[in-house]
Parts: sequence; structure tokens; C-alpha cells
Amino acid sequence: MPESFPVLVIGAGPVGLALAGDLGWRGIRCLLIEQSDGSIYQPRMDLVGVRTMEFCRRWGIVPWVEASPYPRDYPQDNIYLTGLNGYELGRERFPSMNDARPPETSPQKRERCPQNMFDPILKRFASSQASVEIRYHTRLVSFVQDADGVTAEIENVNSGERSTVRAKYLAGADGARSAVREALGIKMVGKPVLTHTTNVIFRCPHLVSLHDKGKGYRHIFVGPEGTWSTMVAINGADQWRFSIVGGPEQQDLTMDQIRAAIRRAVGVDFEYEILTVVPWIRRELVAERLGDGRVFILGDAAHVMSPTGGFGMNTGIQDAVDLSWKLTAMLEGWGGPELLPSYDVERRPVGARNVAEASRNLQRMLSPGHNPALLDPTPEGEATRKRVGAEFSEAMSHEWHTLGIHLGYRYDDSPVVWSDGTPVPDGNPHVYKPTARPGARAPHAWLKDGRSTLDLFGRGFTLLGFGADAAEAASFIHVAKERGVPMNFVRLEEPEVAKLYERKFVLVRPDGHVAWRDDEMPARPGDVIDVIRGAVRATSVQAAGEKRLAANAS
Ligand SMILES: Cc1cc2nc3c(=O)[nH]c(=O)nc-3n(C[C@H](O)[C@H](O)[C@H](O)COP(=O)(O)OP(=O)(O)OC[C@H]3O[C@@H](n4cnc5c(N)ncnc54)[C@H](O)[C@@H]3O)c2cc1C
Repeated sequence: MPESFPVLVIGAGPVGLALAGDLGWRGIRCLLIEQSDGSIYQPRMDLVGVRTMEFCRRWGIVPWVEASPYPRDYPQDNIYLTGLNGYELGRERFPSMNDARPPETSPQKRERCPQNMFDPILKRFASSQASVEIRYHTRLVSFVQDADGVTAEIENVNSGERSTVRAKYLAGADGARSAVREALGIKMVGKPVLTHTTNVIFRCPHLVSLHDKGKGYRHIFVGPEGTWSTMVAINGADQWRFSIVGGPEQQDLTMDQIRAAIRRAVGVDFEYEILTVVPWIRRELVAERLGDGRVFILGDAAHVMSPTGGFGMNTGIQDAVDLSWKLTAMLEGWGGPELLPSYDVERRPVGARNVAEASRNLQRMLSPGHNPALLDPTPEGEATRKRVGAEFSEAMSHEWHTLGIHLGYRYDDSPVVWSDGTPVPDGNPHVYKPTARPGARAPHAWLKDGRSTLDLFGRGFTLLGFGADAAEAASFIHVAKERGVPMNFVRLEEPEVAKLYERKFVLVRPDGHVAWRDDEMPARPGDVIDVIRGAVRATSVQAAGEKRLAANAS
């Protein structure tokens, strides 16, 4: 008999770990397999966005992130310069993690926690869930699905031993070259090559003492030919990730060329050790579908974007949270046939939006173009540096302020969201305007008892009643219970929060998005509950309701 699990997750990168952890947190058994030993050869992500930190808050792991070894007193300035010993063109100042405060619209702030520190935190979280099993050195070989489940062949990469796993659902968080996506025949749409870039991590504990620019997080080097490299303080101490941006054509750099580029950026000869070199291709791609039947893809398997903005992993973790509660609903028996298809409807447009914004950020980063006088020690050179610095600072500020991307993503067209017909809000990637319109992330507000509204949401649905009695919500909750939908009622006497949420009753999903709201309880609670659990399509129920109203009126 093959081993059997409700969910098989492929790939223990940050997204697979988040999915397994969230499933475990919801009490769902799953097996997570990872072909490698889980160690990070070269950390890629280092920005944990504010929404991901809100998930970490829900999972109870914020203190783990705050305790990660990234120094919390390290300033986060972004500096635009011709060289560490050259001209400073501009600077966007950002405080250290110790000094930064959450935005008004969230109980959390974004964190700097590179992948070699964040993956182990997610691994610890996932492993601490009793229902999660993680197997490293284990790869997916193939799978087939049928009406009742998925049969996968997996292999221990050390021994070569193969075995069969049967699962109800399979989730491919297996990265940009996803074998799961390939097996499903899903194409990636977009631009397969934006740049051929080379990332080099070098160690130099005394780098800051070699120049006068002080400590900074990201350095963007601009020469007369335009933006040519960047350098980030990857661990805030002795390691630096130097990135030679390149162009659309293949670049195969020799070690001498890499060393010459580092010398050019720093401006003096100095001692350092190259730890890793990774050539990679920057892409702009979104999968044409996020799954097929009982098999789903998420994270980089579903969207591959330029790192400019730090959206990739954060978008993937949102995928994981969206998919997790829907799989839970199906496995617990209260999810209907529209629920899993809504994963694609909800998440694919968000992936596409973030991929596009990441590419716009790349264009901003490359915007200085050719400025032959940039390095001239003349009044003309000075005027060029002033102009380039001002224009670049303005352009780059868009990349640093992206709350609209992190908090403002909405599921307006979802078949499992009951629209209230209010106008669709603007989707500015830079500005987040809180809204409790169905489909949006339920907004944060501090409650009198010191909790955030977000602390009320999570495992099941939460029906908020502003100044409402439990009796008023009783039949709604009763109908939900009848259908097996986990739901609890929370009465709030908080006028400011009521103003923010705009309706007397607001129903929030297990992922923290608003499913439905109104000033009155629905005459037919089952209609709403059947839509939000995916038993019927919102449009068909609403059309039937309108017909009924018309019939009653005539
Ligand atoms: C330079 C750089 C900087 C970045 N900075 C940020 C940032 O600051 N913030 C951010 O949000 N994003 C950032 N990103 C993007 C981010 O790193 C990725 O989006 C993220 O790592 C994707 O996570 P994932 O789990 O989907 O995929 P991956 O991290 O690629 O993990 C996939 C895993 O699946 C495993 N796997 C593959 N095939 C199989 C198989 N057949 N069987 C078993 N296991 C398998 C792989 O070994 C791998 O461990 C950056 C990217 C780059 C290149």
C-alpha cells in the first residue's frame, strides 16, 4: 500500500514551507518533500514584506524573525552613487529595524531577514506542527491524478530508492523551473529574459571603513553608461551581495572581470573573499493557469519576477495562505466545487500585477541612461550629477514605497466573494487605502484591548457585528454550522473600527479577506454561505436574488 497524505507539497523553499506550515496550523496532515538538504547556497530574498509579517503574527513566529541574526541596528538606507569612493547622487533614508515603526495600516512592519535566516524560521514553524512531515533529499519523479486523488512517485536522492505516495491534493512550490507545472503542460506567459545578471557574495568585514558613505542597505552604482551594478548588505555585517546587472544578452563573466567590477564599485584595492557566484536570468513571467484538477502551483512556479521591489517570495506566501484554507475546506468537507477554482481567479491577477510592477521597478533602476559627463570634475559634471541624482531619487522612491502591493491586493472578481456593488477602489501599487469592500484584506485597527482586528481572524470565518447582538447573527451562524463552515461571531463596540469597516456586519475569511458585508443580516443566509464556501457561484445566486426581488415587486 502506498503511503497516504491529504496534501503532498513539492519544494521546501519559503513558499512550500509556508504552505506546509499553514496547513499544519489548520490541523491538516501533509508531506513536504525537498530534493536538496535545505541549505541555502546563496540567499536571494531578504525583504519580508508587511503582509508576510502579518501572517507570521498569526502563526506566532514574529519573535523568531525579530531574533534572527540580521543586526537590528543596521541602517536601511538606499544609496545611489558612482562608487563607494565616488560621488553620492542621492539617498533614501530608512531606519534600522530597531527604529522602524509599523505603518498605521498594519500591526507589523516589514523586516529584513535574508533567506538563509528566514527559511530556517519557516522550517521550524512547519516542523513544529504535529501534522506536518518534511523529508529532505527527496524529489518528485512523476505523478498522475484521477477523480479521487493524486499518485506520486518520489525518490530518495541519496539512495535512489523510489516509493509511491497517494494524496488527495498536490501542490507544486517547486520554483521557477517547476516540474509540476511542466507535467501539467502549463505555459509561462511574458518575457523569458529581461537581463542576464551575475550575483556575487563576497566577505569583507571592514568594507564600511574603506569609504565615507557610511552604512547602507542597498547601493546602486551608476556610471556614464547608466546603472551597472548594485550591492546589498546581505547579512548587515561582513557579507555583501554584489550584482552585475547586465542586459538581455548572455554574459559569461570571468573571475577577473568580476574582481574588476568589484574594484570599480569600491574604488580602491582591498582584501576580500568571494564566497559564491551565481549567474541568473531575470524574467517577467506568469503561468497561464495555476493548476489543473487536484494539482496546484504556487510561488515561483506560478510567477517569476525581477527582484526589484522584493515581491517574489511575498507574493508566493500570499498564494500559500489562499490555497491553504481552501484545501482545508475541501478536506474538512465544507468547501464546494467553486472553491479550489477560485484560487486561480484570485491569485493569478495578483501575480501578474506584481510581476508587472517588479519590471517597472527594473525600468526605474535602469532609468539614468547615458550621461557622459557624470564623472567629470567640472561644473557641467556637477550639474549632471545633480540632475541624475534628483531624477533617480524620484524614480526609485516608487520601489521603496509599495504598501499598495503588499496590503492592497484584492479579489474583486472572485466567485467566492459576495460583492456589495460599491465602486472598485483604485489599485495604486504605492499607496494602500484601507477598505473592507468584499475581496479586500480586512483592514487593521487597534482594538481597546490592545489587539489588532487582524488578531481576530485566522482558522475559520469571523463574523464581525458592530454594535450587534449575538442573537441578530444567530441564524447566520446556525446555517454556517449546519453546512460545517467554521465561523464565530465577534461583537465589537468600537466606533472608529465600525467607521473603517463601513457596515454593521462584516464576514472575514480564514485568510483575512472580506467575504461579505451588509448592514442587515441576509434574508436567506444560506445563499451567502453557499457562495463564500464555493458551493454555488456568486453571480448565479445574486442573479436569482435579483429575479426574486423583481418578481416580488411586480
Ligand atoms: C537576487 C534576488 C533577490 C530577491 N529578493 C527578494 C526579496 O527581498 N523578497 C521577496 O519576496 N522575494 C525576493 N526574491 C524572490 C524570491 O527569492 C523567490 O520568489 C522565492 O525564493 C520563491 O520561493 P519558492 O519557494 O516559490 O521557490 P524556491 O525558493 O525556488 O524553492 C523551490 C524549491 O523546490 C525544490 N524542488 C524543485 N523541484 C523539486 C522536485 N522535483 N522535488 C523536490 N523538490 C524540488 C527546490 O530544490 C527548491 O528548494 C529575490 C530573488 C532574487 C533572485
